Amino acid sequence: MKAHDGMYIDGAWRPAAGADTIDVVNPVDEQVIGRVPAGTAQDVDIAVRAARAAFPGWAATPPAERADRLAALRDVLVARKDEIAETVTAELGSPLPFSQMVHAGVPIAVAGSYAELAATYVFEEKVGNSTVYQEPVGVVGAITPWNYPLHQIVAKVAPALAAGCTVVLKPAEDTPLTAQLFAEAVAEAGVPAGVFNLVTGLGPVAGQALAEHPDVDLVSFTGSTAVGKRIGATAGAAVKRVALELGGKSANVVLPSADLAKAVNVGVANVMSNSGQTCSAWTRMLVHTARYDEAVELAAAAAAKYGDRIGPVVNAKQQARVRSYIEKGVAEGARLVEGGPESPREQGYFVSPTVFADVTPDMTIAQEEIFGPVLSIIRYEDEEDAVRIANGTVYGLAGAVWAGDEAEAVAFARRLDTGQVDINGGRFNPLAPFGGYKQSGVGRELGSHGLSEYLQTKSLQF
Ligand code: NAD
Repeated sequence: MKAHDGMYIDGAWRPAAGADTIDVVNPVDEQVIGRVPAGTAQDVDIAVRAARAAFPGWAATPPAERADRLAALRDVLVARKDEIAETVTAELGSPLPFSQMVHAGVPIAVAGSYAELAATYVFEEKVGNSTVYQEPVGVVGAITPWNYPLHQIVAKVAPALAAGCTVVLKPAEDTPLTAQLFAEAVAEAGVPAGVFNLVTGLGPVAGQALAEHPDVDLVSFTGSTAVGKRIGATAGAAVKRVALELGGKSANVVLPSADLAKAVNVGVANVMSNSGQTCSAWTRMLVHTARYDEAVELAAAAAAKYGDRIGPVVNAKQQARVRSYIEKGVAEGARLVEGGPESPREQGYFVSPTVFADVTPDMTIAQEEIFGPVLSIIRYEDEEDAVRIANGTVYGLAGAVWAGDEAEAVAFARRLDTGQVDINGGRFNPLAPFGGYKQSGVGRELGSHGLSEYLQTKSLQF
C-alpha cells in the first residue's frame, strides 16, 4: 500500500523529527503492508504551531468559503471512493463491499452535511439588545480510533473546519494509511496550509503530547473509556474544552408486541457488522421471558450465517481480548449457543460470531465492552425489569427498541439513559446528534450539535 514517510504539516509532507516507525499490518493475512513514522512530542509541537499560525486566517474566512472547501473535500472523497475502501480493507480487514458502503460512504455523507451546515449555520444572531456571535474555539487536537477509520476522522475534522477551527489529527496506530489518504484529500480540496495537520504515532507518545499541549484549545477524543478518562482529567486541569466519544454496551430491547424475527435478525446483523467493532453496537439483546427461547434459537441461526462473512478484528491484541471475554462468559455460567473462543481460521485475527444465552445482567459479558462479534441475550420479566437492565451499566451510548406500535417503542425509548435509540430498526441519519450519556462520553458529534462543539459564544450588549 502507498504510505508517506513524513507528517502532513503546514500544507506539505515533512520528515518526522525522529526515526521510529510503525508497521501497518493487514489483519486478514498478518502481513506488513506499510510503514509510517511514529511521531514524537516534537512533531506534535511543530504541527500545533502550524495550526495556531493558520487559525486567524481560517477563522476570518467567510463561512460560505469554508463551505466551498468542505464541498470540494467531499468531491475528492467521492472521486477516491474505491481507493478509500481498498485502504480501509487493507488495514482493518473489513470485506470490500462493507468498506465501500460504510467506511467510504458514511464519511462522504458526513463531509457533505458539513459543507451544507457551514453555509447555513447561524453564526451571528440578535437576542434582545445583544448580538451573539458563535466563534471558533481555536486549535483542535483530534485523536481517533481504528474501528471506522475515516468516519471518526471526518466526524471531527469536518465540523471543526466548518466552525473555523484548525486541527492537528493523531489517528489510530492500526489505521494510519486511511488518515494519510485523508490528508491528501484535504490538500487536493484546496484547504489552506496549516488548517489541517496530521501526526501519526503511538497513543501514549504522540496522542498524549497532543492532549497535553498547552496551545491546543479543544481535545476531541474517540476511543476507550480508560484513555478518555485520562484525557478528560488532563483537559480539566488546564480548563480546556474536551469532547469524549467512549465505549458502549447498548441494549436492544425487544418488547412483547414486536416482530420478533425481524428484531432478532436485525439485532444480530448490528452486532456482527464491522466484526463487532462498533461503539454503538447493540451487544445486549433483552427479550421477554415468554419469547426468550424462540429469540435464542433465531439469534443462533442468524449468527451462524455470518460464519465466514465477517472480517477479522483489527489486531492480535484485540483478538486475544475478545476471546478472553468469551472464555469469561462460559466461566461465569452463560450458555454458548453459537461460536466460541476458538479462532475459526489459522491465519488472521478472526473471531467466530458468538451468541450467549442465559446471560444475567451482572455478568462481565453483560457489563463490559467486548468490541468483537459477541451477543449476550438477557431475559426480562416485565417492562420495569427491562428498563432497569437496559440502564444498568456505566455506559449510555445507543440502543434500540422494537414494538408493534411505534408510540409504545418511543415511550420506552424515552426511559433509556442513552444518547441515541433506533426505533424498530431505525436508519442512519448523518444529521442526528451522536454521543453518550453517563460514561459513554461528553459532547455530541454530527449535525449542528457536532458543529456547536467547536464554537464558543460571545455576546455584545448595545
Ligand atoms: P484507545 O483508547 O487506546 O485508542 C484510541 C486512540 O487513542 C488511538 O488513536 C490511540 O493511539 C490513542 N491513545 C491511546 N493512548 C493514549 C493516551 N495515553 N493519550 C492520548 N491518546 C491515546 O483504544 P484501543 O486500545 O485502540 O482499543 C481498546 C478498546 O477501546 C476497544 O476494545 C474498545 O472497547 C474501545 N474502543 C472504543 C471505540 C469507540 O468508538 N468508542 C473505538 C475504538 C476502541
